[in-house]
Amino acid sequence: MSDLNSNVADLSGYLARFARDGVMNHIGGKACPALSGSTFDNASPVDESHICVVARSDGADVDAAARAAKAAFGAWRDMDGTERKKILHRIADGIVERANEIALCECWDTGQALRFMSKAALRAADNFRFFADKAPSARDGQMLPSQTLMNVTTRQPIGPVGIITPWNTPFMLSTWKIAPALAAGCTVVHKPAEFSPVTASILMEIAEDAGLPAGVWNLVNGLGEEAGKALTEHPDIKAIAFVGESKTGSMIMKQGADTLKRVHFELGGKNPVIVFDDADLDRALDAAIFMIYSLNGERCTSSSRLLVQSTIAEEFLAKLTKRVNNIRVGHPLDPKTEIGPLIHKTHFDKVTSYFDLARSEGASIAAGGKRVGDKGWFVAPTLFTGASNDMAIAQQEIFGPVLTAMTFETEDEALCIANDSPYGLTGYVWTNDLTRAMRFTDALEAGMIWVNSENVRHLPTPFGGVKASGIGRDGGDWSFDFYMEQKHIGFATGQHKIPRLGA
Ligand code: NAD
Repeated sequence: MSDLNSNVADLSGYLARFARDGVMNHIGGKACPALSGSTFDNASPVDESHICVVARSDGADVDAAARAAKAAFGAWRDMDGTERKKILHRIADGIVERANEIALCECWDTGQALRFMSKAALRAADNFRFFADKAPSARDGQMLPSQTLMNVTTRQPIGPVGIITPWNTPFMLSTWKIAPALAAGCTVVHKPAEFSPVTASILMEIAEDAGLPAGVWNLVNGLGEEAGKALTEHPDIKAIAFVGESKTGSMIMKQGADTLKRVHFELGGKNPVIVFDDADLDRALDAAIFMIYSLNGERCTSSSRLLVQSTIAEEFLAKLTKRVNNIRVGHPLDPKTEIGPLIHKTHFDKVTSYFDLARSEGASIAAGGKRVGDKGWFVAPTLFTGASNDMAIAQQEIFGPVLTAMTFETEDEALCIANDSPYGLTGYVWTNDLTRAMRFTDALEAGMIWVNSENVRHLPTPFGGVKASGIGRDGGDWSFDFYMEQKHIGFATGQHKIPRLGA
């Protein structure tokens, strides 16, 4: 059983080479610095200490990576799907072998607590295995015969794609996008978030060690407005899969317009959890707490708006407040820690700015609302009560361990509040009335809804949001809809009548 001291010792071993060499790009199967030689600094949110320098790429590096991805595309596309399957399974094996290294580095780079990150590394391996198994059938189509034609459809990979990922659970999220792209037969240029570059580099090494052909997957580090922007504008990149903020998604759509980029967006959320008075209230309480305070609240699917029926509100909120005050904030490498520091000072400043805003809007701070310690970006898990849905604390994505609680009287009112949001990623409904659950979920504006459950990801199901929460779906075959083109071919089955012009 690991403890804080042994984890810290292991981590320093893993990080030594990054401290020495920095985080490099990987282009055409080789690790390389940015062509300009530029770097930026990467610090840990735990104590603000320097971790490493990181290649600061610009358009020239992105161009080199896109060319490598283009050159590798034909052979990768035409490789037998069963061969691609074997390589992707070997990547999954590599992730499992290095799961401890990945988890510890991710915690130090992002501030996420180890209790969640060790599972995230293994989930990343599952992502690779799931899409590995789908690789052999990725091109399958349908036969749609008509009176005169044998119509068949087939799917073909769209080409080299750009994948741009955020800093929250960056390792797991990257695999979630990269694995289906590779399984489909696309080649990849990946631009990870500048705040959390370390594990993307480990993932790339694992892929190279697994025998992925050079150029099939390229890694370009850098800032969003530099490397990220260049990737979205590159003519050889056929599609951009993006996970991040809604306003960045909007910028990417504009940047990609001249080259007619296909885009897939997984964006922000302000997700409601609705608790009716007939629900199993103990389970609802556990799930509501888990879905906002796990992963430091830095999770797109977090239940950041609690809507609780007024008949049970007083008791439910009292229990909630007690539990929130008990959540353990601490060193992310301590297995007992439940909340670590926020990713970065910029994000810390954003999250903590909502404490004063909540007061000025007239809400109460029932728990938290303050910094923890004076080093690193720790905040106390926070609960706002007495809020109304028109307040900024109920409308804006705070993306920290901060829950805004409101009450409602009737089902209609709950639905109205839940849907009164620019976002529509997830919703969580707690009721034991089956008919109400069916009625309510049908009218709730969200891409994913769980009834009497927290978010439990099942890989064959569609993942994505509506409204400002995204465009497109991941998971199952939906991922291939994005990374592949549908082709229709009609074969005449006889001598049907062809209109004769000018005859
Ligand atoms: P962000 O939008 O600031 O950055 C995401 C990525 O985009 C980074 O790699 C960044 O460098 C890059 N980027 C920034 N500007 C760019 C530009 N002009 N062109 C191209 N790339 C650019 O997001 P973040 O702060 O890193 O992540 C948090 C956000 O991600 C939250 O809003 C969260 O809800 C969202 N998110 C959504 C999902 C989902 O599945 N819906 C999952 C995880 C995170």
